[in-house]
Amino acid sequence: MKRTKIFLGVILSASLTAGCGQGQSNQTETTARKDTPAETTAAETSAAETSEETAGKYIPGTYTGMATGMGPVTATVTVDTDTIVDIELDLSNETESIGQIIGDDLIKSILDSQGTDIDGVSGATVTADAVIAAVNEALDQASGKVMVSHEMTPGTYTGTAWGSKSDITVEIQVSENAIEAVRVIESDDSPYISEAAIEMIPKRIVEEQSLAVDAVTGATFTSSGIVSAAGEALRSAGANLADWTSGKKEKSQGEDVNTDVLVVGGGASGLVAALAAKTDTQLSDTDSGLDVMLIESNGYGGGNLTLCGGYIASYFGTPLNEKTGNSWTTDQLVDALEEANPQYTDVVNDYVLRQIVDLNDEVINGLMERGFYLTADDAYLAGSGGLNRDGSTEYYTSASVIANPETGERSGERGYDIYGGAAYLGRSLTELVEKAGVEIRLENTATSLIMEGNECKGVTVENHDSVYHIYAKKVILATGYAGLDQQTVDLFLPENYGDIINAQNAANTSFAQKEIFNMGGDVVKLLEKGYIVPGYNTVLAHYGEEGQLYRNMNAVWVNSAGERFMDETAPESGRGTEVGAVLLEQDKDSAWIIFDSSHEGVKYIDFLQKQGLAWEGDTIKDLADKAGLPSEALEATIEQYNMDSEGEGDTVYGTAKENMVPVVTAPFYGVKIGAASTAGIDVSIYSDENMNILLKKDGDKIENLYGTGGVVSNGYITLATVGLGTHVNASLLSGAYAGNCVRESLLEE
Ligand SMILES: Cc1cc2nc3c(=O)[nH]c(=O)nc-3n(C[C@H](O)[C@H](O)[C@H](O)COP(=O)(O)OP(=O)(O)OC[C@H]3O[C@@H](n4cnc5c(N)ncnc54)[C@H](O)[C@@H]3O)c2cc1C
Repeated sequence: MKRTKIFLGVILSASLTAGCGQGQSNQTETTARKDTPAETTAAETSAAETSEETAGKYIPGTYTGMATGMGPVTATVTVDTDTIVDIELDLSNETESIGQIIGDDLIKSILDSQGTDIDGVSGATVTADAVIAAVNEALDQASGKVMVSHEMTPGTYTGTAWGSKSDITVEIQVSENAIEAVRVIESDDSPYISEAAIEMIPKRIVEEQSLAVDAVTGATFTSSGIVSAAGEALRSAGANLADWTSGKKEKSQGEDVNTDVLVVGGGASGLVAALAAKTDTQLSDTDSGLDVMLIESNGYGGGNLTLCGGYIASYFGTPLNEKTGNSWTTDQLVDALEEANPQYTDVVNDYVLRQIVDLNDEVINGLMERGFYLTADDAYLAGSGGLNRDGSTEYYTSASVIANPETGERSGERGYDIYGGAAYLGRSLTELVEKAGVEIRLENTATSLIMEGNECKGVTVENHDSVYHIYAKKVILATGYAGLDQQTVDLFLPENYGDIINAQNAANTSFAQKEIFNMGGDVVKLLEKGYIVPGYNTVLAHYGEEGQLYRNMNAVWVNSAGERFMDETAPESGRGTEVGAVLLEQDKDSAWIIFDSSHEGVKYIDFLQKQGLAWEGDTIKDLADKAGLPSEALEATIEQYNMDSEGEGDTVYGTAKENMVPVVTAPFYGVKIGAASTAGIDVSIYSDENMNILLKKDGDKIENLYGTGGVVSNGYITLATVGLGTHVNASLLSGAYAGNCVRESLLEE
């Protein structure tokens, strides 16, 4: 099996200050910057002197090595004559949940073993490999093997590294002491999502003359791929990479801004809210005359719409409904929903729900007329048990967009694949909203609400360069459902989700929920309706083709005790939510999928290993040790499973013989899987009939603060959980309703 690709580990070099060398024990070296080239480096000096004068392994001192994991990783290693004494790692660019946790383990293992031959520790993650490479680099200097230079050879160089879904090749032009130009010349990362990174990261590297640049939010894998490829190119130019990885830019105080309407969050709901505030109820060409701004954390607009399966429901009055011949009236639909979900009568606002559903035709037609990437040709009849109390199937209209205008591949064909048409949904919605005159500021994140008493005056915003304030007459929060990250779980749902690890998608930050909660407000929890499914415990932007491994492929699943816990027959065959719920009952809400080298899932292993989610072993024991599972239990489980699969079938959970895949041929693999939610979780806040946010149910409203989409579920939650496409529909429609309320209120003033 191929190891994770890390290219910087072999001959990178960090510098020592002149004078640091053999015999100067405990001296602390600093990394020389590119503008202070050392004439002769300590390493060069020491290389010449070591063999004659030093009996030990190392030249005592402190050395810095650098390699690239998710971003640049540096290791500062202190040695005496024969011993590695101390290691400090800078893992600030690594994924918090995966990268940072393994740092301490690795340091301990390296110090204990006095070397980096520790393959079994913490799996073959990108970060683990980078740490080892960076430490090796520092040790190469300490042992005098490496020559150091601070000048590059002017010219044009290329480097290649893995991004999100493909190899990215970067071309870089350098002079002796500067990076003159950077360009991505090849990438097949996901359309749209990766574009901001491809544009911005090269610019940042040149502007800041550093590889330690901020990633583009929402496109972190592509961003770090570009940085890594640029690093490789710099190395080819003869650069000392440690010179090019220090000093992140300080943020300045930016210029404050005033606007009529500010929308926070540019997902489906926020974009349509901004459009409705800028236009009218039909989303026509009329300009309301209001100044409308929208800020979005990601480097692209669309939020989860951009990652979604491409399913969009429509209930009446659109070309989609004409195509299927299926139609509901608002009253029919709302009556059916309320009847089928009596448990929510206390939470759902019947008036708001009817107002929102009433907008179905105006919103979908208005968007389609403006160029939203949705066509009637893709409409089909979607079945739902959530429209009838007895659970029998009712039909409504949904659409799944064409994935790629050239190939015709439909979104959803490979599951929730980010190559699907959803990217075009996100892109077209963002573009049409901008064209209508809304000012969209991407990579701008709201960090807090500006409050005066119970009145919202605006938000504090942070971007790549600065921190500033946007003051607005009306603020609409459209930051989505709550995320299923550990921080949100600890805050709102420790009793429900326990130790869940980062099973969220990129869009859900729980910003609105946390702000209101911190003000003493209430949150609504509609957990029975939560859409919990199996997923890799990483951002669901990668909920792509490799998801087939747990959706459609049979394999053994074990829990942290190394024991099976269910009939694993292709879990997503209609029972994804059921399996999601079972995962929540396991320790750490996780399981490991175990298979051997003849299994078709092997093709996804590289990708999953890169994310620290897969392990390989020559024996079951070896695999268990690497994956952190009890080896004896795992061996016993696999032995029993293999025996059953050769006999009459599963004697423990009843899995049919034809669905059992024996685990016999080395190497063996384990992939970690967790409980995840595509939409986020239904923790939202209360609003009144105009979508004005309330601190408590039926309590005081927060003046000038509105909510929409996943933020405020009490108007439409039953609608949003009916079936495929209903989340996006509810987000679009509730966004329009919130935008209408805000526009009408301002125009009346
Ligand atoms: C993989 C996947 C597949 C899905 N498939 C479907 C499907 O096929 N059909 C369907 O109906 N539903 C689907 N869903 C659910 C659906 O996409 C979402 O429920 C819906 O798009 C939510 O829209 P929203 O605007 O409320 O929130 P979001 O899409 O979450 O948008 C919120 C936006 O706010 C931004 N933001 C958050 N915090 C801040 C901040 N502090 N400052 C600035 N910006 C901020 C986020 O970056 C994000 O862009 C899917 C979801 C996922 C993840």
